[in-house]
Amino acid sequence: MSVSVTFLGTGGSVPSKFRALPSVLIRRGPELLLFDCGEGTQRQFLQAKAGINRKMRIFISHMHGDHLFGLPGMLHSLAFMGRTRELQIYGPRGIADFVSSVNRVVKFYSQYPLKVKEVRAGSVVNDPEYEVLAAHATHGIPCLAYAFEEKPRPGKFNPAMAKKLEIPEGPLWKKLQTARYVRVGNRRIPSRLVVGAPRAGVKITYAVDTRPCSRVAKLAQNSDLLIHDSSFDTSASQKAVDYGHSTSTEASQIAVRSKVRKLALFHISAMYEDANPLLVQARRIFRNTILSKDMMTVHVSRDR
Ligand SMILES: [Zn+2]
Ligand SMILES: [Zn+2]
Repeated sequence: MSVSVTFLGTGGSVPSKFRALPSVLIRRGPELLLFDCGEGTQRQFLQAKAGINRKMRIFISHMHGDHLFGLPGMLHSLAFMGRTRELQIYGPRGIADFVSSVNRVVKFYSQYPLKVKEVRAGSVVNDPEYEVLAAHATHGIPCLAYAFEEKPRPGKFNPAMAKKLEIPEGPLWKKLQTARYVRVGNRRIPSRLVVGAPRAGVKITYAVDTRPCSRVAKLAQNSDLLIHDSSFDTSASQKAVDYGHSTSTEASQIAVRSKVRKLALFHISAMYEDANPLLVQARRIFRNTILSKDMMTVHVSRDR
């Protein structure tokens, strides 16, 4: 199944002329996973043609306004536009109170079942085909970093070899993909002769807002894409310390440490009209770095 990431908003703290507030959309086939919902996300979501009635989960990193003030508007508009399917929201302590408080005062939705779950570090979603894990980031208030990780798929089936080994087509072919061996008459045929090694799934880690930290590095281990806080360049590194953020250099050091395949610099401070210096500094340490831009889409594949 194809997996892509669309950066709906890539700024941080306050929007700028060039960047909306943080939100990242993962599309996995027909399913949507939205990470953070900064103010204005709903409009970017429409522009991305994400679809209003798909299976969808929203993950909020922390209770700072730039990451969740877009949520009431999003929930309201989804109802208005005819969503009927259940929507699940995950986030740290406070998220349930936030959603219910706004709804109590404004009554922003009524059409579809809404489930809000407060979560901690560990496994947050365990779907048959993927898992979402969380770890505590290092910020001024409790903040969760999330990793979306597909479960391994069975190896490639080789029909020519199955025929050559005279395994009759039908239930036995299916069994080869799950069992260690099959029996044909008095022969015991190991599945590995016909089915290749299990194929690893895609892993994407979303880590904002955070200082560089070991918990995030561990969570991000072997990600195909790491989306990391990169609020500042090295000349403003004290600001990164003071406000609980990272420089692009620090983000690239985490990318190296976590052995990721690609790094996307994200949550770029509004003080940068041209954020290219952040990219140049990061690439000195980790070559495969990109600078995220609003509405940019990156396809993430599992061919390693
Ligand atoms: Zn932020
Ligand atoms: Zn924050």
